[in-house]
Amino acid sequence: MTRLEGQCHCGAVAVRLETPTPVGELPFRACQCGFCRRHGAATTSDPAGRITIACAPDALSRYRFGQKLSNFLMCDTCGVYVGSLMEADGAAFAILNVRGVDLPGFAGRVPESKTYDDETPEARTARRKALWSPVNLALLETSA
Ligand SMILES: [Zn+2]
Repeated sequence: MTRLEGQCHCGAVAVRLETPTPVGELPFRACQCGFCRRHGAATTSDPAGRITIACAPDALSRYRFGQKLSNFLMCDTCGVYVGSLMEADGAAFAILNVRGVDLPGFAGRVPESKTYDDETPEARTARRKALWSPVNLALLETSA
């Protein structure tokens, strides 16, 4: 089992990807939408793995645009784009922004350019359910 850990720039948001896939075989995608290009985002996910995003309940901003099918998660403190989260059929799925959380194991790889502009909402949800990772969103109690 591969266990990759990262965090946003300030450390308020910690992430983990646990996967049976060797890190060198994980997808590495550069979505060409306006949001991802502006962030220089390059993402990964593995449907056979599991993502955990752990932070205080108020640590993340959620941004929706376009078809508004997913929440783009930004750290409220440092502004890093951490990843994206989608809920469908009572389950939650996510991708991680490898660059935003400095996930190890991707150095030297060139992300594969992806354009999803022509997808219908149904096709988009189906693709994400097939390719994104099941996710635990762990909202931690803040120590007072
Ligand atoms: Zn942060």
